[in-house]
Amino acid sequence: MLEIGAPVRKTDLSEIREKVHASERLSFEDGMKLFESNDVTGIGRLANGVRERLHGDRAYFSHKYRIYPTNVCKFRCRFCAFRVNKGDERAYEYPASEMLGELAKVDLRGVSEFHVVGGLHPDWSFEDYRDVVAKLHEAYPDVHVKAWTGVEIDHFTTLTGKSVRYVLESLREAGLGSLPGGGAEIFDWEVRRTICRTKCTGERWLEIHQTAHELGMKTNSTMLYGHVETPESKVDHMLRLRELQDRTGGFRTFIPLAFHPDNTRLKHLPRSTGAEDLKHIAIGRLLLDNIPHVMAYWVTETPEVAQVALSFGADDLDGTLVVDEEIIDAAGGSHVRGAMTKERFAEMIREAGREPVERDTDFNVIQAY
Ligand code: SF4
Repeated sequence: MLEIGAPVRKTDLSEIREKVHASERLSFEDGMKLFESNDVTGIGRLANGVRERLHGDRAYFSHKYRIYPTNVCKFRCRFCAFRVNKGDERAYEYPASEMLGELAKVDLRGVSEFHVVGGLHPDWSFEDYRDVVAKLHEAYPDVHVKAWTGVEIDHFTTLTGKSVRYVLESLREAGLGSLPGGGAEIFDWEVRRTICRTKCTGERWLEIHQTAHELGMKTNSTMLYGHVETPESKVDHMLRLRELQDRTGGFRTFIPLAFHPDNTRLKHLPRSTGAEDLKHIAIGRLLLDNIPHVMAYWVTETPEVAQVALSFGADDLDGTLVVDEEIIDAAGGSHVRGAMTKERFAEMIREAGREPVERDTDFNVIQAY
């Protein structure tokens, strides 16, 4: 967090600049220096150089449909405004049988991906969750199913008493294409136990993604910032992702996620500023030299900040919204109400001086605008 009245810290970034220009890997200390510096434009310029070296002017987006089969969750993460108890008047559940009926009401033309995450329902079995994947895959065989975070996969191992490998193979047989990056939050236990102590540990999250990579499945990675974390815990988080990526090469994208405090148990905290959002994206691009893509998730950061982020290290803006975004909407992000069309997306990217490219989940080009 930027402190009110704190001095502007224009740390000398010349050593880091030299390393970045020589494509040398940055260290933990370099990461700390970047977080300590308020030279947001200087950091952004460096990250933009890396972004343009990797992707030129291209800015990716996808046309996806988000599915949250239930908001009932037995956990109570302090940063979560989405979960409710069973029996709560806002509780809903769409098991696989009902989900297809709901989907039939939606215009899914041109959708290349289903992004499926939700709560850990106390009454659902692993088969119920597996069925969601199976029914989607059966009904829409050409649409990639990206489903269940590392936390959900961990929950399935508890439900079944089986290994991570067993659960992932079983889901893959049902039609699972890849895993989203959620549930990573901050790996450091001191932070994690404060914000989500019942969730699987950071080590377990990394083990689950490593197993997915070993099975040939690509996954995404995230980091939730803007709550009680420290700069050390963020640099540590990113370097742990980088270390796993060195071994497996299985991460497609790094997504820094800004925490939205409204309606959460951390609602006393201020929301991150645009400058902080841009800084996290830029530092992510600089430290994670082996993850191909960095996403500015416009849903958490607002479309305006996401546009600027395309010159601060980000090359991907996630996707269109066919309907409202429920998790961020629950946490007070009113800008996510209503659909975001492909045309609006392409225009937003063009306005930011980049070339819009619609991609599929694996970054194959569907259409360059
Ligand atoms: S973040 Fe996920 S696991 Fe935690 S309370 Fe919310 S829905 Fe449940």
